[in-house]
Amino acid sequence: MTIDFHVHFFPDAIAPRAMASMTEKLGGRAFPVGDGTAAGLLAAMDAAGVDIGVLCPVATRPGQFDTLLRVSLAIRDGALGPALARRIVPLAGIHPADPSAEARLRAIADAGLKGVKLHPYYQGFTLDDPSLHRFFCAVRDCGLAVQCHCGADLGFVDEPEARCSPKRIWNLLKAVPGLRFCAAHAGGWSEDKEGFFDRLAFDTDCRADTAVLEQDVPKPAARRAVRAWPAEKLLFGTDFPWAPYAPVMDMVRELRAPGELEGVFGANAAAFLGIDVPEAAD
Ligand SMILES: [Zn+2]
Repeated sequence: MTIDFHVHFFPDAIAPRAMASMTEKLGGRAFPVGDGTAAGLLAAMDAAGVDIGVLCPVATRPGQFDTLLRVSLAIRDGALGPALARRIVPLAGIHPADPSAEARLRAIADAGLKGVKLHPYYQGFTLDDPSLHRFFCAVRDCGLAVQCHCGADLGFVDEPEARCSPKRIWNLLKAVPGLRFCAAHAGGWSEDKEGFFDRLAFDTDCRADTAVLEQDVPKPAARRAVRAWPAEKLLFGTDFPWAPYAPVMDMVRELRAPGELEGVFGANAAAFLGIDVPEAAD
């Protein structure tokens, strides 16, 4: 059972526009490898042998909450077809500055979704901002997990300050003990100017996903991040359609011991989210 803990797609009607605007923001520093649709994702998952994708919707404004929740529930409940219901585990999108965040987190949990996706750059917040402790305590107290973009974002290279560096993740996890948190993009290695990566990896319960951009796959620091993170807390993820499957899968298989791969490629993600997945057929 292979689970990609970090995928994106958009409803067919808005996928072309959403992909075009994100690609423009990237300014040639990265390019999509898919069309941003659900069908495109499923085809790539099939080709790579990936069974389940964890959908990470980002609310760029508080007002997007209802629409994103409706889409996530439609996916889960089969309104968008049996293939998506079987193969996509949708998280919820919520904006931390949403004045109704606490009630909405409760609604997410009551609806049975397992966690929320956050993106400090697209949502304009800094991960360890004390004014957000209340939000993160509410996430924790609702029993929800966090899948958060961490490290640099190539769409925001002009930002003066790192918003989600390993140090900021560390600060957040110290301030909100018990928060179930996954630091996407290999623990935020790309913003680790303060040298907090190892403390985060070894002295906290923080999860990391393996979503490393294709152009970063050969970089020593990226490889070191994927190799060093404790195996039981590492979750295979790609950020598809922003990275193709093969290089990320090959990198994980190369850098981790054979006995670690079952956990990294699926069992760790299932345990982190608390989902049951059927045994692999083979
Ligand atoms: Zn992503």
